[in-house]
Amino acid sequence: MPLDQLMEEIRAQNFINGNYTKGTSGKTFRNISPVDGSLISIVHEASLKDVDAAVKAAKAALTGPWGEMPLAKRLEIVSGIVEGIQARFDDFLEAEVADTGKPMSLASHLDIPRGAANFQIFADIMRNHHDAAFRMPTPDGTGALNYTVSRPKGVIGVISPWNLPLLLMTWKVGPALACGNTVVVKPSEETPSTTAMLGDVMNSVGVPPGVYNVIHGFGPNSAGEFLTQHPDVDAITFTGETVTGEAIMKKAAVGIRDVSFELGGKNPAIVFADCDLDKAIEGTNRSVFANCGQVCLGTEKVFVERPIFDEFVVRLKAAAEKQICGRPDEKATTLGPLISQEHRDKVLNYYKLAADSGATVVTGGGVPNLDSSLEKGAWVEPTIWTGLPDDHPVIKEEIFGPCCHIRPFDSEEEVIALANDTPYGLACSIWTENLTRAHRVAPQIESGITWVNSWFLRDLRTPFGGSKQSGIGREGGDYSLEFYTELTNICIKL
Ligand code: NAD
Repeated sequence: MPLDQLMEEIRAQNFINGNYTKGTSGKTFRNISPVDGSLISIVHEASLKDVDAAVKAAKAALTGPWGEMPLAKRLEIVSGIVEGIQARFDDFLEAEVADTGKPMSLASHLDIPRGAANFQIFADIMRNHHDAAFRMPTPDGTGALNYTVSRPKGVIGVISPWNLPLLLMTWKVGPALACGNTVVVKPSEETPSTTAMLGDVMNSVGVPPGVYNVIHGFGPNSAGEFLTQHPDVDAITFTGETVTGEAIMKKAAVGIRDVSFELGGKNPAIVFADCDLDKAIEGTNRSVFANCGQVCLGTEKVFVERPIFDEFVVRLKAAAEKQICGRPDEKATTLGPLISQEHRDKVLNYYKLAADSGATVVTGGGVPNLDSSLEKGAWVEPTIWTGLPDDHPVIKEEIFGPCCHIRPFDSEEEVIALANDTPYGLACSIWTENLTRAHRVAPQIESGITWVNSWFLRDLRTPFGGSKQSGIGREGGDYSLEFYTELTNICIKL
């Protein structure tokens, strides 16, 4: 089979115990381009039996060559995955862009390089990791020595979303493998390709069969649920919507399996009058519109101190109106489509609700006028509103589109209360040139990550995750080890 055709085939197949397979369900689903509605691939859905085979392969691999492998060799292989992805950079880029519709300029700088780097960072962390030791006195004067031993947790179920498919999946698979676990991954049904392609890289760099498995399908009564309810899955790491997290947690409760959740958000930006306005506009323009607003850390509520409110609205409007919707491979494109028609319907419902409720539509609010070849794509206009009440659904609920509401505020106290008035707690950006104010306000925001004068600036050694309904646990650097390893304390009486 020619290589091109082979690559197309494997993107749509399950990967179980080192082999690509169409599985046993006989069921397929269509992977549709969000750019123009064309067919990308016909994906083979995994059956309950296929998921069981994947979990069994992962379980067996824990004690096979992978389990017996010296740490240095294992980490050499994990680092090798980075080179494996880089060697096929263009294939990964093309597949990711086809599935998501995002601009090539974004995916080539973010999704694929960061997706690969996630293996390197966790290989490096494990190279430098050491266990802890504690001496203790005892009444008889001889003392005791405690030391910790960390072991892999076992078979990790990984369930990932569609907004940054490779990057968010490897953010979990990287530490899982570096810590010696095995994984069964269920990528989003909207973006199955790069997760499936990674199987071929795993084989080529010497990851033993069964260590990395991929099953395709949906959530309830499909591969997602089959995976989370499987009794041999030892822990589940999930990125996606909060309501899906609730459903997964119920399954994880059976057998008391550990979970790590990165969930939804409704993130504020706080712009003080003493900010550098150029920086604040540039940063907010990115945090609202990057990836067509489909970034969990993205801003959907902007609070601007009253003296600069009018100027801020005018300047963010101008920036939004410079966004260019278009095909991913066109150099000028800055804004891709939403992921699907279904998601577009959801976002457009919020657009309508805002207008019907009397919001001032500063810009956008509808569907862009594009070339007729794109009319079946999931396009929406970048949109800004003002004037909605604080309890409106547009202010309260995660929309996950290229839009924000801007509201004036008058005092620090008021804006801290407004920023925290949400069941979510993922991210916040504060814009101020007053360092004392930044240090005073930042710790009062109930979020997993608070940036000052930036957005999406990520050091991968730092803890990443959400508070309140935005998540459970933190991943990143050594923090990931808390989830991906099991600690035993050994106490020796001397
Ligand atoms: P989603 O919850 O709809 O789906 C995520 C994954 O879960 C998919 O693979 C889906 O098939 C699977 N799934 C759905 N129902 C399931 C079930 N009952 N059992 C098992 N698996 C199930 O999320 P999405 O729409 O793909 O992604 C967008 C959401 O993800 C947004 O809410 C966004 O905020 C969130 N997100 C959060 C972070 C973070 O780091 N906190 C990062 C990216 C995205």
